[in-house]
Amino acid sequence: MKLQVTPVQAFTDNYIWLIHSPLDPRSVVVVDPGDAAPVQQALSSQGLTLSGILITHHHGDHVGGVVELLRQQSVPVFGPAHEQVPGNPQPLREGDSAEFQSLGLRFSVLDVPGHTAGHIAYSGHGSLFCGDTLFSAGCGRLFEGTAEQMAASLAKFADLPDETQVYCAHEYTLSNLQFALAVEPGNEISAAYLEECRARRARHQATVPSDIRRERNVNPFLRCDLDTVKQAAEGRAGRALNPVEVFAVIREWKDGFRG
Ligand SMILES: [Zn+2]
Repeated sequence: MKLQVTPVQAFTDNYIWLIHSPLDPRSVVVVDPGDAAPVQQALSSQGLTLSGILITHHHGDHVGGVVELLRQQSVPVFGPAHEQVPGNPQPLREGDSAEFQSLGLRFSVLDVPGHTAGHIAYSGHGSLFCGDTLFSAGCGRLFEGTAEQMAASLAKFADLPDETQVYCAHEYTLSNLQFALAVEPGNEISAAYLEECRARRARHQATVPSDIRRERNVNPFLRCDLDTVKQAAEGRAGRALNPVEVFAVIREWKDGFRG
């Protein structure tokens, strides 16, 4: 059965995800509550009960609401073992799982360093909660990790089944696709997806979740082994590049890219 997940918008472009229990859809686990107020508002307006918190990494726009939510209600909190985050979470690393037995929810944990050094992701029920590691048609900036780490982290996601739903934490898809098309101008799937996303944004709809099949088709950071992306990176660098260097060049190119 497909997991029911609903977005809560926060700040300018964050999505805080509510995962509904398959056993009781009114009980939810919140992922990366950077701000308590919109979460509380969503809970009360939709008649939902907060039953747990999952944290992917330590940035303020992902953890800023944890203490306030816990002040209202004591619920289990899970977070990365290698980062300091509020709420005294149960520490998780790759191979561990975050389980909410009474909710019928269980996620396995992936270590995905790159954006931050201790970033983790949660995978389960055909869904991926990837924090700021993977965005639709893009990936997180390298604040604490190396290109090599980030490329290895994204490779873990690329191995997930095609239909895995990808719950990204930001609405960055339009600008990411403009960059993706600068890297691969001939990618017709990206061009069509850009039109689709423009239409969605014009209707004030989210472009996420995405899925792994689509990301393999449009996301240049998952396509560094393809000739099109390799040639674009080598053209920019002016020399031959290995796959990690291709990733590093593309990531740096994106950092300075203004669509
Ligand atoms: Zn972040």
